[in-house]
Amino acid sequence: MRLVMKFGGTAVDSPDKVKHVARLIKTYKKDNEIVCIISAVSGMTDGLLAVADGVRRGDRSSIEDFLKKTYKIHAEIAQNAISDNSLREKALSEVKRIVEELHDILGGIVLLGEVTAKSLDYLMSFGERLSAPIVSYALQDAGLDAEHMTGKEAGILTDSNFGEARPLMDTTKLRVNHKIEPLLRRGAIPVITGFIGADQHGNTTTIGRGGSDYTATIVAASIEADEVWLWGDADGLITADPKIVENARVLKEVSFAEAMEMALFGAKYMHPRALEPVMDTGIPVRIRNAFNVKHPGTVVTQNPSKDSQKIVKSINAMRHTALIDVSGGGMVGIPGTAAKIFDTLAKNKVNIMMISQSPSESSISMVVRKSDLDRATTTLELNLLGKVIKQVNVSDDVAVIAVVGSGMRGIKGVAAKVFGAVARCGINVIMIAQGSSELNLAFVVKDSDCEQAVRALHDEFGLGSNGR
Ligand code: ASP
Ligand code: MG
Repeated sequence: MRLVMKFGGTAVDSPDKVKHVARLIKTYKKDNEIVCIISAVSGMTDGLLAVADGVRRGDRSSIEDFLKKTYKIHAEIAQNAISDNSLREKALSEVKRIVEELHDILGGIVLLGEVTAKSLDYLMSFGERLSAPIVSYALQDAGLDAEHMTGKEAGILTDSNFGEARPLMDTTKLRVNHKIEPLLRRGAIPVITGFIGADQHGNTTTIGRGGSDYTATIVAASIEADEVWLWGDADGLITADPKIVENARVLKEVSFAEAMEMALFGAKYMHPRALEPVMDTGIPVRIRNAFNVKHPGTVVTQNPSKDSQKIVKSINAMRHTALIDVSGGGMVGIPGTAAKIFDTLAKNKVNIMMISQSPSESSISMVVRKSDLDRATTTLELNLLGKVIKQVNVSDDVAVIAVVGSGMRGIKGVAAKVFGAVARCGINVIMIAQGSSELNLAFVVKDSDCEQAVRALHDEFGLGSNGR
């Protein structure tokens, strides 16, 4: 088979793990063609973001520390994961060179005192640029032929929407194919940085947080891979958070549509567009645990087999979010009110996760991340309060609970079952939304009610390991 394997940051953040990953790849290489996609060492991307934030606030003190720490982490992994002297030296000198480049760009940003979207993407690319070569040399150390490259070098072309760039798939397919095919024919393993592409001017772009999964599917679609395997540190997609529900279980099979709904909430955060490139062609995606290789994981396919088609597959919770309720008689029957509200928020980079409007049109409720709440309310107050809207009310600690399963479509009584179970716990439902795809029924409760509600629903639909 032709496999694209992506390794998450938690699978490559120590010398032992990198050695383990190299052995794992070697095992599968015997019978398969393999392309590797590597994430940044865990914590690196967040670290880079934090440094950029520091620069914006005029705080330069942490930069030297960050550079030292970055060098130390990667040098230590290279030093101890690679036993051949010459390969280790190559890895170390590459790490050194890339950290020096990082030093230079940070110096430039500090001088300018501002971080543009373009320079932020360049900065954000360093996590993956550091981790991929180390894995590549570790593979060579294990006796495999491997060649590392950035997503840009691999041929991933994107638009210039820095931070959330979209791949231009037709050109990307041609370029990636052209670059990767000869390597596979040679029997080599291409090792590609996740998360990174380039726009048509050659500027480095990133494709959004958690983007390495997305890189894997972009590459898979380009080279017509048989499967994508996303290796992380969880066994797969689950029926509920095991920290909340004791008998939560790993799902064997889910559809692309279900996986997309779960990814937004579930334990495995996946880029919301990560499944797009493989959906049309139906390339299956397996979510697997690199440290529990015996476990088959969850497979995401176009048409899951009959026996895994349940009405409800999982109960997901997004904790600690905020609810904003805007209201006012002036909103009634005025076309464009909602557009104005959402547009104003979007311009100020507030991401709205859930929306509902009453038919009377006199109020609109929205769920946003807690970290966006301040910006959201300020924006609304500055721009719209007293004009389009009369009042802004906020609840700042709510949870969104999403019941996911494609079997809910067209089945009567699912909502009654959901809200019946929640009501029996004496829990108040604050807001409800269901898309017309009927794949996902989501509602909002106080965060302190969240765990009880999730447990009740998990039971109600018999999702546990001792379930019906
Ligand atoms: N390193 C990037 C991030 O943390 C991409 C990824 O890990 O998938 O978002
Ligand atoms: Mg990640």
